[in-house]
Amino acid sequence: MAKKILITGGAGFIGSNLADFFLEREHCVICIDNLITGSISNIAHLTNQDFRFINLDVTNYIYIDSEIDYILHFASPASPIDYLELPIQTLKVGSLGTHKALGLAKARGATFLLASTSEIYGDPLIHPQQENYWGNVNPVGPRGVYDEAKRFAEALTMAYHRYHSIDAKIARIFNTYGPRMRINDGRAIPTFISQALKNEDITVYGEGNQTRSFCYIDDLVAGIYQLLMSGINEPVNLGNPHEMTILQLAEKIIDLTNSKSEIVFRPLPEDDPKVRQPDISKAKKLLQWEPKVSLEEGLGKTIEYFEKKLFDQN
Ligand code: UDP
Repeated sequence: MAKKILITGGAGFIGSNLADFFLEREHCVICIDNLITGSISNIAHLTNQDFRFINLDVTNYIYIDSEIDYILHFASPASPIDYLELPIQTLKVGSLGTHKALGLAKARGATFLLASTSEIYGDPLIHPQQENYWGNVNPVGPRGVYDEAKRFAEALTMAYHRYHSIDAKIARIFNTYGPRMRINDGRAIPTFISQALKNEDITVYGEGNQTRSFCYIDDLVAGIYQLLMSGINEPVNLGNPHEMTILQLAEKIIDLTNSKSEIVFRPLPEDDPKVRQPDISKAKKLLQWEPKVSLEEGLGKTIEYFEKKLFDQN
């Protein structure tokens, strides 16, 4: 039976890929976005389907006249340069926006899923990160606006679950990449691919020995769906445990694009986590989910997407 799914941040990278997933399965999708980091071009292809776009800032009251079965709360600036440029909006959407989205879930009896993040672990002192680790976050540092907003959002989500019996899920999303990321969102993968395709210097921050673990978007969307359909009401890590240094990532991208780019080193941003790798034992056991797409395959598809964006006139 067709379900009604509301996605906040539905014009963003992950939100629009989720919209595709549900529409392909013949559900109805309502997407809310104020387009400060999302883009109409991510959803322009969805006009003929059971799809509705509402241009709205979810920190304001959300009025929706129809029934809703599921609310996926994905609205937020999410790349470090975005939330450094939009610190107040980031705090507001994580706090006030989550409050409005939960209020709507309560009013409609909808299942709620919060897009949380590995950033709630901060610069982690435990490695790899398990859900029972409480994190090492600098609340007053530049990344604090995102980390604390998401930590507050988790607390609010659990409060609505406990006190209003909302069926609430929390996905702690680790670094994810793929088509529809913004070329200039400042994250390592779009930045390196665009630099490599233009044969420009690849800007590695610090010495490049900090680590990340990158998950391809299709794997993440599958994990989110499994979590949404599950009976789990506590945080679950979703990400790819394949860990690498940022220098290795830069070399891999140079290799896959046959680029003439050289690697140059730039200062490491403040509070940049030194390591990050999800422990996904919980998702494996409770959701029977694990990533399937290899780094080479995922980067290949992402490079193809950015090549079109950068060089196609149409
Ligand atoms: N990074 C880099 N060069 C860039 C962009 C990012 O070396 O041009 C590094 C960044 O300092 C971090 C890692 O790549 O250590 C991943 O950064 P990203 O912005 O993708 O996400 P984060 O995991 O920090 O949220």
